[in-house]
Amino acid sequence: MNHVIIGNGIAGVSAAESIRELDGSGSIFMISDEPVDPYCRPMISLVLEGAISPSKLPIRGPDFYESLNITPVLGSRVARMDVDAKILFLSDGKTLPYDTLLIASGADPRPIKAAAAHLTNIFFMRNQHQVLSMLKTLPQTRHALVLGGGLVGFKAAGGLLHRGIGVTMLIRSGYPLSLQVDETAGGMILAELIRRGLNVRVGVEVTGFKGSDTVTGAFLSDGSEVSCDLVIVGKGVLPSVSFVPRDRIRVDLGIVVDDHLETSCPGIFAAGDVAESVDIARKTRWVNAIWPEAVAQGRIAGMNMAGRAVAYKGSLSRNVIRIFDLDIMAAGWVNAPDDPRYSVISEHNRRLNTYRRLVFEGDRLIGATLVNRIETGGILTAMIQNEIPVRVSKRKLLEPHLSLKSLTF
Ligand SMILES: Cc1cc2nc3c(=O)[nH]c(=O)nc-3n(C[C@H](O)[C@H](O)[C@H](O)COP(=O)(O)OP(=O)(O)OC[C@H]3O[C@@H](n4cnc5c(N)ncnc54)[C@H](O)[C@@H]3O)c2cc1C
Repeated sequence: MNHVIIGNGIAGVSAAESIRELDGSGSIFMISDEPVDPYCRPMISLVLEGAISPSKLPIRGPDFYESLNITPVLGSRVARMDVDAKILFLSDGKTLPYDTLLIASGADPRPIKAAAAHLTNIFFMRNQHQVLSMLKTLPQTRHALVLGGGLVGFKAAGGLLHRGIGVTMLIRSGYPLSLQVDETAGGMILAELIRRGLNVRVGVEVTGFKGSDTVTGAFLSDGSEVSCDLVIVGKGVLPSVSFVPRDRIRVDLGIVVDDHLETSCPGIFAAGDVAESVDIARKTRWVNAIWPEAVAQGRIAGMNMAGRAVAYKGSLSRNVIRIFDLDIMAAGWVNAPDDPRYSVISEHNRRLNTYRRLVFEGDRLIGATLVNRIETGGILTAMIQNEIPVRVSKRKLLEPHLSLKSLTF
């Protein structure tokens, strides 16, 4: 068997390891346009912050490829694929045939529509190379502009503030992490960031940048201007599918996969940030672009590629984040619509600065947001993930000392 994996991120790595566990003799090729060994993508924000050095980023040892007899094809981009001939065409002119294929190409930053976005010192924050380039600018940086209040924008702002750099953040949606948490938790995060010196502008966007070669400022949609010598764009991501033939492989937002992570084209699988699977809480297809799902999907896709049929239960959004003095945990569908099918209970203790909010569909917990005292997050996440019906009073789940024993039904 000739197994080929597009992407050497965590989904690709997890798949390669499970293929090799089950298939000792087949060949495995891993292609990545990033010319580096597998690394921990979420931790690039810690490099920006100065909390770790880039040498701490790799997630596997230097003998990863050799020890698993994998052929790495690094620094090459898949430009096109022929699913009938089962061949990949690389941008350097090479071709690569496959028997089974995993698309684990991750996601690309959402582009920005603003004039003069080509100026230097305007960065996306998706890969190691971009952060290393940002680091070189920091000694000259007085004030940074962060676009977007999503996970990446928010981590970038936190990292720069930790370094003592002034930051202005533009958030169109009104509060940070609007995909991960509800408005109250978002407000608490915002208050903490402002307390630490962040300058936030809500409801405005960048229309263009100023500067002759290097960025010196930005024009905003309300007619005002902001001075800055570094811009970080964190306006979310889109699945990386430019090379995927949409007439042969079903793509919605991401590549649509079935419960074995196989695409609509037999023998071709997808996993990680590029894949669109059934969301356990929502019960609809969704792209949950998070690390633990990329691990689980990669592992299961790899087993299926190696011939062991293993079902995938579905994906679930979940995040644990620390921002200065706030611990935040969010899982499932935290922003379910205002609809009689869903009920919400919450508790906000302003004195202790804690907040807990749970969303239910009938007797099923489908979403949880905790700010500070997040110890019960694991139990709540497990309840959502395993669709455990709540047989005790729902308010019991708000208790900070919730234990499995107290949930004995
Ligand atoms: C700054 C930051 C912070 C984050 N923080 C968190 C967090 O706190 N918690 C969390 O759960 N998740 C977090 N994430 C998201 C997490 O990193 C991703 O969910 C995870 O890395 C996805 O892994 P993947 O293997 O699917 O894709 P990726 O890691 O993106 O790997 C895909 C690889 O494929 C390559 N590739 C793409 N197209 C091609 C092509 N055509 N040809 C060849 N190679 C190609 C890419 O360059 C990349 O190297 C964060 C991400 C970022 C950027």
